[in-house]
Amino acid sequence: MEKKNIDWQNLGFGYMKTDKRFVSSYKDGAWDDGALIDDDMITMSECACVLQYAQTIFEGMKAYTTEDGRIVVFRPDLNAERLANSSKRMEMPVYPEDKFVEAVLKTVKANESYVPPYGSGATLYIRPYMFGINPVIGVKPADEYQFRVFTTPVGPYFKGGVKPLTIRVSDFDRAAPHGTGHIKAGLNYAMSLHAIVSAHEEGYDENMYLDAGSRTKVEETGGANFLFITKDGKVVTPKSNSILPSITRRSLMYVAKEYLGMETEEREVYLDEVKDFAECGLCGTAAVISPVGKIVDHGREICFPSGMNDMGPVTKKLYDTLTGIQMGRIEAPEGWLRTID
Ligand SMILES: *Cc1c(COP(=O)(O)O)cnc(C)c1O
Repeated sequence: MEKKNIDWQNLGFGYMKTDKRFVSSYKDGAWDDGALIDDDMITMSECACVLQYAQTIFEGMKAYTTEDGRIVVFRPDLNAERLANSSKRMEMPVYPEDKFVEAVLKTVKANESYVPPYGSGATLYIRPYMFGINPVIGVKPADEYQFRVFTTPVGPYFKGGVKPLTIRVSDFDRAAPHGTGHIKAGLNYAMSLHAIVSAHEEGYDENMYLDAGSRTKVEETGGANFLFITKDGKVVTPKSNSILPSITRRSLMYVAKEYLGMETEEREVYLDEVKDFAECGLCGTAAVISPVGKIVDHGREICFPSGMNDMGPVTKKLYDTLTGIQMGRIEAPEGWLRTID
C-alpha cells in the first residue's frame, strides 16, 4: 500500500477529504448492512431533524502506526459504548457496538494510505457520528437515521514543542445539572462556541467550566477533562454527572494506578482548592494531555509550579507512559489496541 504524498509533520487539525467513508441507514426500525462509499456529500430534507432540532451525536478517536509497523485504533469498544449511551439519551436507535467497531476498522482499512507513518506524530482522526435525517417539524425524535464514519489525517498536536495553556474560569455554563453534559452530543458544542470565541478574543486558550448548579466545583473544558496532581503526587480528576467520560482520562487514571503505582482519586474538586495542586492537565484524544500553566479566575491568577514552559514531571510521566502504550513501545493492557489487518 502506497502512502499519500502528505507533509505529515506540518498537517494541522483540519478536515481533509479521504477516499472512503462508511454509511449505514436506519429505516422502518432497523439498520441496514452499511457500506463504504466514495461520495463525501450528504443530501437531506430541508426539514431534517438534525438541521432543525440538532439531533446529532458523535465520537472521536485515532488510528496510527505503531513502532513495529502495525496500524491500530485505541480502545474503539469504549467509543462504541459511549455512542450507545449518547443514543439512548437522545432518543436515537443504538448502533450495535460490535458493528460500530467493525465499521471503524473497515473505514480505517479503506483509507490506509492516509494513516501517517510511525514517528511523524500525525494520526488519522476517526469521526463516527449519527443524526436524524427525515423531516420533523413538530418536536419529536426522527424515525430515520444515518450512522457514518469518516477519517481525516491530522498533524502532531504539540507542533514546535509543548506549550502549557492559559485558561479562564468561564462565566458561561457548558452543561446543566441533569442535562446532556455526560454525552457526546453536537448540542453541547454548539452552545460552547460563543464561550470559546470570546475566550480566544481575550487571549485564553480554553474555558474552565464550573458546575452550573453551585458554580463552585470544577467540571471540564469544552472538549477535555481535567487531571490534577497533588503536591504529594496523587492523581485527582473531578467527579460529576455532567462531565463527558473521556476515554483518555480513564486510560490515564488506569495507567497511573496500574503502571506507575500512583494513588488516584475521582472526586468533587472545588475551584477554591485548585491553587493547591502541583500540576494540571487537560485530557482528550487530540493531545492525550495538554499541560495547563495558568488558570485565571476573574483577574485572580492561579499559576502552577510546573510553569509556562514545560509539562510538569508527573504529567510528563503519565503522558510518556500512555503514548508509549499507544505506540507499542510499552505493553498494552489486554484489548486496548485493535490492529487493522
Ligand atoms: C470528547 C470529549 C472529551 C475527551 O474524550 P476522549 O474520549 O478522551 O477523547 C472530553 N470532554 C468533552 C466535552 C468531550 O466532548
